[in-house]
Amino acid sequence: MSISDNIRFFQSQLTGTNCRLVTVTKTHPVQKLQEAYDAGARLFGENKVQEMAAKQPELPTDVEWHLIGHLQTNKVKYIAPFVHTIQSVDSLKLLLEMEKQAAKHGRVINGLLQFHIAAEETKTGLTLSEAEEVLQSDAFRSLRHVRITGVMAIATNTPDEAQLRQEFSELRSYFELLKARYFADNEYFREISMGMSSDYQLAVAEGSTLIRVGSAIFGAR
Ligand SMILES: *Cc1c(COP(=O)(O)O)cnc(C)c1O
Repeated sequence: MSISDNIRFFQSQLTGTNCRLVTVTKTHPVQKLQEAYDAGARLFGENKVQEMAAKQPELPTDVEWHLIGHLQTNKVKYIAPFVHTIQSVDSLKLLLEMEKQAAKHGRVINGLLQFHIAAEETKTGLTLSEAEEVLQSDAFRSLRHVRITGVMAIATNTPDEAQLRQEFSELRSYFELLKARYFADNEYFREISMGMSSDYQLAVAEGSTLIRVGSAIFGAR
């Protein structure tokens, strides 16, 4: 199957759902991104700042760039002119830097709060109480150039479907709780980013609105 066939396959899988595809392009050359773009992909996910900043000028301007990897505050400036969504927001400090850099460019950057739901210790992200602490802070409330548009998580790398379902449903319950408590009249807070090549079907069944798919489109990295 070619890249374009794979993009069309995922688009057809998502037809009739509330879920969109983030094409994860990390490690792949620009020419393959262009092939995905030509087949209709518009949301691209990269996990490294330098790589995203190098590819962005080579692609059409209507690509929505999503950063999906851990972001150090001192690197926000390199992607602030164009990044659409930072899916890996894990601290107030990062939000404050996003605010500063987005303001410099007169734009708004979207952010997803990344949660820790996986069993593995190594997977980063906030706990629910850490997220609420951020959302309740005066500093958060003063942000004008950052918009929190939802939540994100990486599930455990396991074939155990019951465990994956449980983790996805946990993230969805965090989304619903935060929506009710902090974003009730906020139309922008609507994204649940969960599901990758190996587990996207379960994630969509559990309410994902953004699946992040790399290897099932481009082959193994
Ligand atoms: C690499 C990556 C993906 C895509 O993983 P695949 O298994 O290749 O689909 C999704 N989310 C994050 C955060 C990633 O780093």
